[in-house]
Amino acid sequence: NFDELLATVPTGLWIDGGPVDPIDGGTFAVLNPATGEKLADVADATGKDALRALDSACRVQQEWAATAPRKRSDILRAAWELATARAEDLALLMTLEMGKALAESRGEVAYGAEFLRWFSEEAVRIQGRYATAPSGNGRILVTKAPVGPCLAITPWNFPLAMGTRKIGPALAAGCTMIVKPAEDTPLTMLLLAEIFAEAGLPAGVLSVLPASDAASVTAPLLADPRLRKVTFTGSTRVGKLLIEQSAQQVLRTSMELGGNAPFVVFDDADVDAAVDGAMAAKMRNGGEACTAANRLIVANSVREEFTAKLTERIAAMTVGAGYEDGTQIGPLINERQRGSVAALVDDAIAAGARVRTGGGVVDGPGYFYQPTVLDNVPADSRIVAEEIFGPVAAITGFDTEDEAIAAANGTEFGLAAYIYTQSLDRAMRVSQALESGMVGVNRGVISDPAAPFGGVKQSGLGSEGGTEGIEEYLETKYVALTL
Ligand code: ADP
Repeated sequence: NFDELLATVPTGLWIDGGPVDPIDGGTFAVLNPATGEKLADVADATGKDALRALDSACRVQQEWAATAPRKRSDILRAAWELATARAEDLALLMTLEMGKALAESRGEVAYGAEFLRWFSEEAVRIQGRYATAPSGNGRILVTKAPVGPCLAITPWNFPLAMGTRKIGPALAAGCTMIVKPAEDTPLTMLLLAEIFAEAGLPAGVLSVLPASDAASVTAPLLADPRLRKVTFTGSTRVGKLLIEQSAQQVLRTSMELGGNAPFVVFDDADVDAAVDGAMAAKMRNGGEACTAANRLIVANSVREEFTAKLTERIAAMTVGAGYEDGTQIGPLINERQRGSVAALVDDAIAAGARVRTGGGVVDGPGYFYQPTVLDNVPADSRIVAEEIFGPVAAITGFDTEDEAIAAANGTEFGLAAYIYTQSLDRAMRVSQALESGMVGVNRGVISDPAAPFGGVKQSGLGSEGGTEGIEEYLETKYVALTL
């Protein structure tokens, strides 16, 4: 029952360990993208609330940093257990506000909660080093300390996981954190804040500030010398603005920005496996993922076989509200996003691309778009250069390995890349030649809380997850000793 669940979710700002009203008293509506109807009114934070959250974070920062790592670890572990116990609530809430199919929301809860367990394990393994200086009479002591109060700005496409992969390492390292969730999907993060409180997280360590005007909350924080880091997942456009603003206080920054992932199928690939992989890499999360395969670059000798098989699978997908039985593709997040997907497809068609299936919006309420396959996509069309963020597969061909690598690298982005080949030699050679932070070899899903996630070029700075993820929240201190 949606109403019963919605009635239990906090809708205030989460400051000082509980829900509070915003100083200016505003609210904004959160919509169900499958219907366009209102789900809830959520408190609308402004800059004044942001400073209140930062005051609260600063009050407890030292104490949290001095809390025994084992204790921080236990709280993260308890949060993982509670999130897992409440998986159905989290999943349904996510489907309601974001639109993805319920099965995918359940997958995100498992994946997103795992960052809490993973970083509970990392919290007790923060290490420095001790060495003899090459001169022989000095000693080098290296210690790690938490960066300090952090601001996290998260997107709507993975409302839980994009928060936990930042909150997990920050808390494990001993940092406090203020989260500004995406305006389309603040409810999931508010429920997570409540789960953290139940897990025993001290008041002030984590705040959540939903806001209709993101910059009104983030700009005053970025200008405040007490803030020490900003971590962001979202568009490259906004990431660049945040990097600029971070210069004022020389903040540490982690930036997970846009992607334009190539999915390369070589002539020696297992074509059926490549089709399975493309379904995952392209259609998972309705294509609304920064790791989504944006360009399917397929050897001309297997292109028709691959395209026909992929088209058959995509044409058979069930589109509907995420909470309806059998739904595989939910709505896009909002009208603006749907308009941008439609414009890219229309532009590609005008440039000569061939529609194999789909190609238009679904009429009626909600922000649905038909699962689409485009073949013969001209290499210079916008859909090849820009992030689609929707259920649209755009296929281009190639003849030689060098051509495929040049096409794959021909973008300012460098987040994920996928290759399908049965040659180990080629897999190693091509994965080294690709300008991307992550490469999937014969698989369409690569994210793993235990592995470093991050991009190169304009896809970002830093890594999330893995043993690398916690370093983003630690400062290195060197003490020179004479013995
Ligand atoms: P998308 O285009 O996918 O919505 P955005 O980069 O616009 O991605 O949004 C990601 C996050 O960044 C959201 O939480 C959004 O509110 C926030 N955001 C958008 N614009 C700004 C801004 N100017 N300053 C700070 N945060 C912003």
